[in-house]
Amino acid sequence: MKRYARLRESGRIVDVRHGDDWALIYTRPRPPLVCPVDGCSQGLSPVELTNTTGTRFLRVKDGSQDCGHLAGRGDGGGPMTDEHLWLQMMLLKICEDLGIDATMETDYTDIRVDSSPPYALEVQKHNTDFAARIDQRKQRGMETLWLFPESAKLSTDDPVFRFPALRVRYQDEDGNELKSPWTSSCPSPSVVKFGATIWVRGRGGFELVPAGNYSARRFLKELFEGRRVWQPKKKLLGLSDGGRVWSGWVLKEDLEAVETRRKARAIEQAAAAERQRQEREQKAQLEAAHTAALTENAARDLLHGARSDETDRGAEANYGADVSIDDGSSAGAQSDEPHGTNPSSHSSTEHPETAPADPAAPQKLRLWDRLKAFFRG
Ligand SMILES: [Zn+2]
Repeated sequence: MKRYARLRESGRIVDVRHGDDWALIYTRPRPPLVCPVDGCSQGLSPVELTNTTGTRFLRVKDGSQDCGHLAGRGDGGGPMTDEHLWLQMMLLKICEDLGIDATMETDYTDIRVDSSPPYALEVQKHNTDFAARIDQRKQRGMETLWLFPESAKLSTDDPVFRFPALRVRYQDEDGNELKSPWTSSCPSPSVVKFGATIWVRGRGGFELVPAGNYSARRFLKELFEGRRVWQPKKKLLGLSDGGRVWSGWVLKEDLEAVETRRKARAIEQAAAAERQRQEREQKAQLEAAHTAALTENAARDLLHGARSDETDRGAEANYGADVSIDDGSSAGAQSDEPHGTNPSSHSSTEHPETAPADPAAPQKLRLWDRLKAFFRG
């Protein structure tokens, strides 16, 4: 049963199930309608079966042979399903709305869009050799966009994320999910949404996040304007390693903004790390200086303490020497001594026979042990 036609005068595509479209074509005199397939001149007439369920459809003009296009030939074995047909018409309408030339069933594609670069929109419900078919279209100067309805039976290796692709979902105007908007029991109008692989800037704009269901019209506008591009996960998430092959759609400006922020953040983090390193270094230097100062003070105190002891002993010893200066016997010996380096030697010169050992030696040993203990500690 044919449902779609093109108004011959304006080129507008109409769907008999759409109220506004029906009002446009079911008037007197009837505006000329043709098959919407590019290059087909099959004339069509609107029919309404008012006596049954109110079914509306298009039939070929009296006396002409059916071109066989867009009749919704059922599922299985490759023939176009009602869903496939309906979705093609919806996409065609969107392109028309956007003011971009698009044709159905031409150049071996579902829909060829004359954007720059031209795109082949492929509604795909089964697995195929995606890479080979992308290549075939590339040779004809077209990029390929794969559209997988939720009903599509695909392999488990996720072609949705491996080739430039989208999931297709249907909603009513209030955003409620529609299961099969191509059936006559489903209320019209319906809205086509794309999802699964679309990324947008998240809260704060720092990172990219999955967009959820996204207006098909908006997506196609961005795509045909060359603003929305297919990028690997590595780029989307700012990873140094991409991991498995896995990609998504992102607006160039969103990616640039996020990458600029990532770079700025990386510089900030590096600067913060450098600041911390410098602070740690300064702290370590201060601690070292502090420790050195303490050590020096402690050592000075210890030495001072020891010297005081020694000086006391020296003074005691020198007392005898002073007394004996008058007789001049030890004056020459005293002047030969390196003064101050070994004050205890004064006593040895004074009483060489009675005190051959250094009387300050036990005191010196104790000082040395204390210093050693201090530096070890
Ligand atoms: Zn036709």
